[in-house]
Amino acid sequence: MHEYDVLVVGGGNAGCAAAIAAARTGADVLLVERYGFLGGTATASMVGPWMTFHAGEDRIVGGIAQEIVERLVALGGSPGHVHDASDYVPTITPFDPEIHKALLFDLMRESGVGLLLHAWFLDAELDGARVAGATFATVGGARAIRAARTIDATADAYVAAAAGVPTQQGDARGRVQPASLMFRLSHVDREALASYLRRRPEQMRSSLKTHERTAESLSAVAGLYELWDAARARGEVSVPRELVSFFATPYADEVTVNMTRVTNIDPLDPDDLTRAEVEARGQVMELLAFFRARVPGFAQARIAATATQIGIRESRRIVGEYTLTAADVLEARAFPDAVARSAYPIDIHNPAGTGTATQRLAPGTAYEIPYRCLVPLIAEDLLVAGRCISTTHEALASTRLTPTVMTLGQAAGTAAAMSAATDVSPRRLDTERLRERLIADGVDLRRSAAAHA
Ligand SMILES: Cc1cc2nc3c(=O)[nH]c(=O)nc-3n(C[C@H](O)[C@H](O)[C@H](O)COP(=O)(O)OP(=O)(O)OC[C@H]3O[C@@H](n4cnc5c(N)ncnc54)[C@H](O)[C@@H]3O)c2cc1C
Repeated sequence: MHEYDVLVVGGGNAGCAAAIAAARTGADVLLVERYGFLGGTATASMVGPWMTFHAGEDRIVGGIAQEIVERLVALGGSPGHVHDASDYVPTITPFDPEIHKALLFDLMRESGVGLLLHAWFLDAELDGARVAGATFATVGGARAIRAARTIDATADAYVAAAAGVPTQQGDARGRVQPASLMFRLSHVDREALASYLRRRPEQMRSSLKTHERTAESLSAVAGLYELWDAARARGEVSVPRELVSFFATPYADEVTVNMTRVTNIDPLDPDDLTRAEVEARGQVMELLAFFRARVPGFAQARIAATATQIGIRESRRIVGEYTLTAADVLEARAFPDAVARSAYPIDIHNPAGTGTATQRLAPGTAYEIPYRCLVPLIAEDLLVAGRCISTTHEALASTRLTPTVMTLGQAAGTAAAMSAATDVSPRRLDTERLRERLIADGVDLRRSAAAHA
């Protein structure tokens, strides 16, 4: 049987970045994904815009993540990084999920990554303490794939859990953030909306001056409190959200709506997941009626698309060599083995009802994520990338954001390829060499480089 250098399980943004990085570092790579396209939560769940490549004015995310944005811009699938009109983060990065799907296939071809689609992870192939690959359910039956190194980028830590790695889920009571089904509305008159928000500036959370509220500048809208509260009071909407929240897409007449909310869900319980899909789709129809009837500029709105699957903010996390904490995030800590940086706040949507709690870093600062968060406490030759790395519930509420998971993917892929090429276990990898390679490949690790020089 052919044995790959690196097997990446899960083709979300973390897995894609991992596969590209591993292949560019010289490895023979196979990327396996359960759907017929790549991009995971960004495409299957249509989650965007990406937040955030910046800490204050400073771009702190580079590497493959920034390369993907530049390629999307060249394809007309993103305007690039734009000011966040809702003041939540410095910049947001809208993108078209359909163009992103196509781009990711291009990137796999260009970097020589092998692909296996429509293949569901079933079990880890164990060779004593080491993960030696995985078995997948495919249209042709079960298929075993062997590899020198395996990366779990499933977001749910399926491979790690199957290999016996300890995992955690949720807060102290095991509760996870709610799930949301994203949808896009087209045929929107953004100028009519902008005109309303110029007349009623207090109805939008924004530092944009009244005259600056134009159709073009409304990259994000959070508010419309009066319309929303009135609709709730009339019983027209039941969605447990405290405000109206939507974002511009690359297209002038379209917005993407992040408002549905299914609470009290265990995303790894098939019955809960089923209930969540059904409940959320009902909420989409309720919200469509609200937008059409009540929101200026939306009278002609149509559903352009709903996501293939409900977006899962949080599920299982591995316990790794280091567990990133809320203090690490909020105090903007640096680590000698840092492989990624982020400035996104800790942003916890209430697992049981309305409300979102936000804790911010000091303005302009960023925290770092150590390589050890990607290395499971037990199981050899396995690395983890993306949402399911080793963090607390609170830290995950920041590390889960897309620019960060792409950077973590690049780190895991590069590390897996270097470890396979040198026959050194991922656990014992020389992180100084890894960081040198990541910096050479555009990852922004300036702070730790300076702090630990
Ligand atoms: C509702 C919601 C709103 C969000 N808002 C934002 C936002 O505004 N901005 C932002 O930047 N981020 C946001 N996020 C966070 C971000 O989108 C995700 O955390 C991130 O995309 C996760 O990336 P990932 O690669 O780790 O996981 P995923 O993208 O989920 O990738 C996992 C991949 O593994 C595959 N997979 C899973 N199980 C198996 C299996 N058994 N066999 C084979 N393949 C498998 C999946 O199909 C998927 O492709 C939001 C998330 C949600 C859910």
